[in-house]
Amino acid sequence: MKIAVLSRNPRLYSTRRLVEAGQQRGHEMVVIDTLRAYMNIASHKPQIHYRGKPLEGFDAVIPRIGASVTFYGCAVLRQFEMMGVFPLNESVAIARSRDKLRALQLLSRRGIGLPVTGFAHSPDDIPDLIEMVNGAPLVIKVLEGTQGIGVVMCETSTAAESVIEAFMGLKQDIMVQEYIKEAGGADIRCFVVGDKVIAAMKRQAKPGEFRSNLHRGGTASLIKITPEERMTAIRAAKVMGLSVAGVDILRSNHGPLVMEVNSSPGLEGIETTTSKDVAGIIIQYIEKSGGPNLTRTKGTG
Ligand code: ADP
Ligand code: MG
Repeated sequence: MKIAVLSRNPRLYSTRRLVEAGQQRGHEMVVIDTLRAYMNIASHKPQIHYRGKPLEGFDAVIPRIGASVTFYGCAVLRQFEMMGVFPLNESVAIARSRDKLRALQLLSRRGIGLPVTGFAHSPDDIPDLIEMVNGAPLVIKVLEGTQGIGVVMCETSTAAESVIEAFMGLKQDIMVQEYIKEAGGADIRCFVVGDKVIAAMKRQAKPGEFRSNLHRGGTASLIKITPEERMTAIRAAKVMGLSVAGVDILRSNHGPLVMEVNSSPGLEGIETTTSKDVAGIIIQYIEKSGGPNLTRTKGTG
């Protein structure tokens, strides 16, 4: 197969591993810098141009779209879909999961366990918003944050009120969430491919920190997940419509709670921690499921 990898940087671990795994299995792998691709939309024959030439003959496309380029990245991916190229994750599914409010609303509608969460922009009654999520301690998150930046824990309602006021001053959409203390600064990343969790790791925050992000000094280790956690991760990915997803789960006293569903989960942490060939499994999934004109969003999404 001829497989495109939409990625800003061919040297990134995940991109390199996908290219390597594809080549090992006899595929032609082409890395395309998402922001450099340009498109012809108003034509009956949709095209993407790259470095002065049309992209042609692709069987599948692997989107690795960073949070900062979601909008343009999804447009490029949608154009591949219009050309009938099989997307590992579809553009609508990526857009869905990137919008945290939309994602949590969809998950909650399907009865998937979530931390009690409030959303606000300029709440006219901050104490009521805090009360709505059962008061302090609580976690406040900026909607566009990644890698733990923009996630704040407030031990008291007074602290929470001032933080919310500060974010209001910055005109930020925020999420106010019950703090899951019993998670003990750890979360579980379940790596879903198709309808299976193919690898899982536990991420533990460094001492004195509640955010388990590896970028915030967290450490990863192997973990055996429960059947309930496995089911929750698979269902969450399915609700989002993602074939490949990193589902982040908190272990609470009342079962697994989904924190977020990542549509371009990184490969480095999970491959290093579990010694699994995650990139190879993704390529095998494409071989099995891919094919021309197999996107649901073709022409409409
Ligand atoms: P980001 O998208 O920036 O990674 P997250 O929502 O994943 O933001 O939060 C970062 C980390 O903070 C999580 O990995 C988790 O360890 C911790 N965390 C987030 N929300 C909660 C919560 N409600 N209760 C306990 N810990 C939390
Ligand atoms: Mg996270």
